[in-house]
Amino acid sequence: MPLDDNWFSEQHAGIGSAWSARIKKKVFDQRSPYQHVEVYDTEGFGKLMVIDGCTMVSTLENFLYHEMMAHPVLFTHPDPRRVAIIGGGDCGTLREVLRHPGVEHCTQIDIDELVTRASELHFPELCEANDDPRAELLFIDGIQWMQQAEAGSLDVIIVDSTDPVGPGEVLFSTEFLTACQRALAPDGLIVQQSESPLAHLDLIQAMYARFGSAGFGDTRTLFFPQPIYPTGWWSATLAGRHGSLQHFREADARSKPFETRYYNADIHHAALVQPEFFRKAIGG
Ligand code: SAM
Repeated sequence: MPLDDNWFSEQHAGIGSAWSARIKKKVFDQRSPYQHVEVYDTEGFGKLMVIDGCTMVSTLENFLYHEMMAHPVLFTHPDPRRVAIIGGGDCGTLREVLRHPGVEHCTQIDIDELVTRASELHFPELCEANDDPRAELLFIDGIQWMQQAEAGSLDVIIVDSTDPVGPGEVLFSTEFLTACQRALAPDGLIVQQSESPLAHLDLIQAMYARFGSAGFGDTRTLFFPQPIYPTGWWSATLAGRHGSLQHFREADARSKPFETRYYNADIHHAALVQPEFFRKAIGG
């Protein structure tokens, strides 16, 4: 049945599919020098942020993505104190990072202040840690910031970027990953959103090659559901500067002093199990 005007639809050209949500109305529509940012009020997903026509965040399900971008990497690093988030302008990943009492400082570097302003208006729950004294919000290009970061000054880098088109493209380059490798302390870890294992396997293969070229050792992908992104199934890829990814602080994850809605120690293990087709394509 054709959709009428009361629907938002994102078409996924590569895989020939679309995701749609019935909307009540558009509540935000502004353009920055970088992107077109829209927010819809939907019937079933709450608010829905869309950047350049691509879904980013919804009220209903953003916890899946934000928790999986923050907690697996932070519970794998032995003592994460200094964290940088590249992208992440909706501030949901920042909120999850700052739930860890051991984190002393978290810098969020998003190229586009408009995304954060839209989130403050329509996703205030994601922005509740923005005034935490440990939080620093900067609005510049992530690669520029990373290239100027002091060598060895970060424990964890979280790359919460848009797709590898437009301003997000550079964040998938070897040049950017080399700057991350330099900025990380020897036991530092990075995690980067790595798109859909079904629709973007070639991109994940290229990412593994670039992590290797940039000097990262151990590299491994986490899988989790993501209802509003192409195919509904998403991934994030972890890599260690020299450190291994095997040191999951499981006891700490089991006794974490904060609530989560998706992440727990069992999900951590399960998310790192590599499906058969993926193992064949990527190795490991
Ligand atoms: N969860 C989303 C996804 O996987 O599609 C990502 C959400 S977050 C809103 C993505 C952010 O990356 C945007 O706010 C965008 O402005 C930011 N971004 C894109 N390119 C960037 C760059 N070169 N430096 C810093 N931030 C960038």
